[in-house]
Amino acid sequence: MPGERVLILGGTRDARQLADTLVAEGRDVITSLAGVTSEPVLPEGKVRTGGFGGISGLKSYLESNGIAAVVDATHPFAAQMSAHAAAACASLGLPLLRLEREGWTAGAGDDWTLVASAAEAAGALPAGARVLLTTGRKDLPPFFDRPDLSGIARMIETPPLDPPRGWHVLRERPPFTVAGEAALMANNGITHLVTKNAGGSATVAKLQAAQEAGIPVVMIDRPAKPEVPCFATIDNLMLVLRKLLSP
Ligand code: NAP
Repeated sequence: MPGERVLILGGTRDARQLADTLVAEGRDVITSLAGVTSEPVLPEGKVRTGGFGGISGLKSYLESNGIAAVVDATHPFAAQMSAHAAAACASLGLPLLRLEREGWTAGAGDDWTLVASAAEAAGALPAGARVLLTTGRKDLPPFFDRPDLSGIARMIETPPLDPPRGWHVLRERPPFTVAGEAALMANNGITHLVTKNAGGSATVAKLQAAQEAGIPVVMIDRPAKPEVPCFATIDNLMLVLRKLLSP
């Protein structure tokens, strides 16, 4: 093993908590952020920001910074970064683990339509739907392109395009409460909720609020990611990561 430094591919609350855990153990940790959030909450340890420049750029970074192991703790929908990490680590023979919280599953009383993409989600909505759209700013066009749709598009950052007539952009950060989500839906005449299957507790309240109000959900499934050892909790991942690193 060339060194004991861990690179965390971040951008999630789980990644931040993992970095904090490793630093508390006295480990040498660098968290990498894409640089897409204007005021990110920073983890403990070192932080670098911005893309690596594809697989070759990531390989150069891993070699020149003496990285011993990589943890992909990116968002479940950050498919490109995960694919690049798998290719770069395989080519250099570096250990790669993934930290990925479990997805949400529909229970009794839920009315979910599962789709594979934002475009499919827009296509699944009936004419004239009033939508609470929580897919993030990269996925707006298929919804904004349909003139019969309207509603609330909620995101953390300013959207890259102006919302068309009938849409209101709400800039808010999680966590959200069931009561708050219920009020948002009721006060805006929402008929459908569209969301990605992010999983986790910070944004799950909208699903309970939708179920209680009888609002159908269009759920965008997670993209496929490369086969690497995957852990849903920091504790389980740490058990394996500690064995890869010297004490
Ligand atoms: P993506 O499509 O998988 O990646 C696009 C490019 O962004 C990558 O090829 C890479 O550029 C750069 N990149 C992504 N994550 C990076 C990281 N942690 N450190 C350095 N560069 C990174 O990613 P995305 O869906 O745009 O997400 C961007 C970031 O936001 C991720 O870190 C993710 O964890 C976070 N995030 C995403 C979502 C979502 O819904 N997609 C939600 C919450 C948070 P190069 O090829 O130049 O290396």
